[in-house]
Amino acid sequence: MTISFERHLNPNPTPDAEREEILKAPVFGAKLTDHQVLIVWEKDKGWHSAQVIPYGPIMMDPSAAVLHYGQEIFEGIKAYRHQDGSIWTFRPMENAKRMQRSAKRLALPELPTELFLQSLKELIAVDGAWVPAPVDEKTLYFRPFEIAAENFLGVRAAHRAEYRVIASPVGPYFTGGLKPVKIWIALDSARAGRHGTGEAKTGGNYAASLQAQNEGYEHGCSQVMFLDAESATYIEELGGMNLFFVYKDGSVTTPALDGTILHGITRSSVIQLIKDRGLKLEERKITLEEVRQGMNAGDIVEVFACGTAAVITPVGQFLSKNETLGQENSEPGQLTASLREELTGIQYGTVEDRHNWLVKLS
Ligand SMILES: *Cc1c(COP(=O)(O)O)cnc(C)c1O
Repeated sequence: MTISFERHLNPNPTPDAEREEILKAPVFGAKLTDHQVLIVWEKDKGWHSAQVIPYGPIMMDPSAAVLHYGQEIFEGIKAYRHQDGSIWTFRPMENAKRMQRSAKRLALPELPTELFLQSLKELIAVDGAWVPAPVDEKTLYFRPFEIAAENFLGVRAAHRAEYRVIASPVGPYFTGGLKPVKIWIALDSARAGRHGTGEAKTGGNYAASLQAQNEGYEHGCSQVMFLDAESATYIEELGGMNLFFVYKDGSVTTPALDGTILHGITRSSVIQLIKDRGLKLEERKITLEEVRQGMNAGDIVEVFACGTAAVITPVGQFLSKNETLGQENSEPGQLTASLREELTGIQYGTVEDRHNWLVKLS
């Protein structure tokens, strides 16, 4: 299904010189490009009115369903400029399918995969100049999202929804080299319960993580690790990244996807790259106790987190109100650093894309 997009160009786009200035040191989510994509869905019409329009506020009735019952889902995916000027994205069909699964869970309409890919291409066709040159890990971050946009206070799945895509240029997550981060262990809050919305990329999961994140900030941590909601025994993931543990014998583990963990596309790519190297990779249940003993005894030699925004982030320490695991000021692990280099190399077109993960946008 390809449908034609109407194009309404922004009459007041950011001047070239101002955009170039922004692209010199872009800050994640701070500046948005000149346009956005909008596709409307109505229960009796399906998807229609696909368009690229100027970036700007959404006119919304105060009774719009999303404002009251949180019927919202989103995605995160990047555009990478290659040395020859061409623009690519990474495994977009996986994001499209995940958005469909999220939609299903939140009782929102599923956007066809081809339309998802087409929406990214349409935005790049008008805002391609916002994709930074391939230096310092700069990219253009797309934020596709879907909201319940029916004006009705009744509690039921909305009969009208809007899919939009906005985009923001982003700079390197780490300035001045890869530095292992400190992670706060959430002991008093959970982000996802059995049969809840943990597998869906929905705003409410993030809202539920922010109290623990604030607690983490107070203790010098930049991220939070959540345990399973039922027993607070098993490691799940961070607020927006999946976790991996590297053992002394070279094997690697990551928590198995059990219904409460987000199916990270970086996670699945990293699993493939680890297997390609002939290393043993296990997806299984991992207890906090195993991590505690492993880090204390030196059996776990590297920990890293991964997601689209920060790619691969070395983890130095875990802290909670009861304990500290790992060393202060540790160095990033060898496997962590080399997987990061390989994955970013594939994304920027300097390492062979042997799994055909890249899709050309322009
Ligand atoms: C988006 C997200 C991730 C990472 O997914 P990627 O597809 O790798 O970007 C991990 N955990 C949560 C909770 C997320 O929302």
